[in-house]
Amino acid sequence: MTGKPQPTYPGPDGRRYASRKNAAIRATATPQPAPTDTRTEWTQRARQWHGLHPTTARPCPRLIAGKRCLTTGNNPDTCLCQHPALDHPRRWTDKDGHPVLTGEPYSLDGTDLTGFITACQALDLTVTLSGRSPWNPGSTVMLLIRRR
Ligand SMILES: [Zn+2]
Repeated sequence: MTGKPQPTYPGPDGRRYASRKNAAIRATATPQPAPTDTRTEWTQRARQWHGLHPTTARPCPRLIAGKRCLTTGNNPDTCLCQHPALDHPRRWTDKDGHPVLTGEPYSLDGTDLTGFITACQALDLTVTLSGRSPWNPGSTVMLLIRRR
C-alpha cells in the first residue's frame, strides 16, 4: 500500500469500485441477493409463509401425539416418522407455541398419502396439505402435522 488514495467509480448497486473495469463488470452482472444457505432460506420461508419457528425436537408424529418414537437401531423403519410423507422432516412451533411437524416430499402416491393420514388420525393428529412448501418451493408439497 502506498497510502495514495485510489479513485473509485460508482457501480449500479451504488457501491464504489476501485477501478472503471470493475465498475463496468459489476454493471453487466445481474444483481444477486446476499448468499444464504439452504437451511436458512428454508427457515425464513417457513416463518414468513406459515409463522413457524424451528426447534431441534425429533421430527416424529408420535412425539407430537405425546407417545414415544418407535425407531430403534435394530428396526429403523418401524415408526411412522420413517414414512415417505416425511421427506425433509422438521419440527417447529407455531405462533401460539404449539408443536408442528412438517414433511415436504417431492411426490407421494395416493396410497401412501391416505395411509399416512389414517395413521396420524389414529394418533389424534391432523394433517394439512399446503402448496407453499418452504423446502424447494414449486417442487415439493408440505404436510403440516399437529395435535387435534
Ligand atoms: Zn418415530
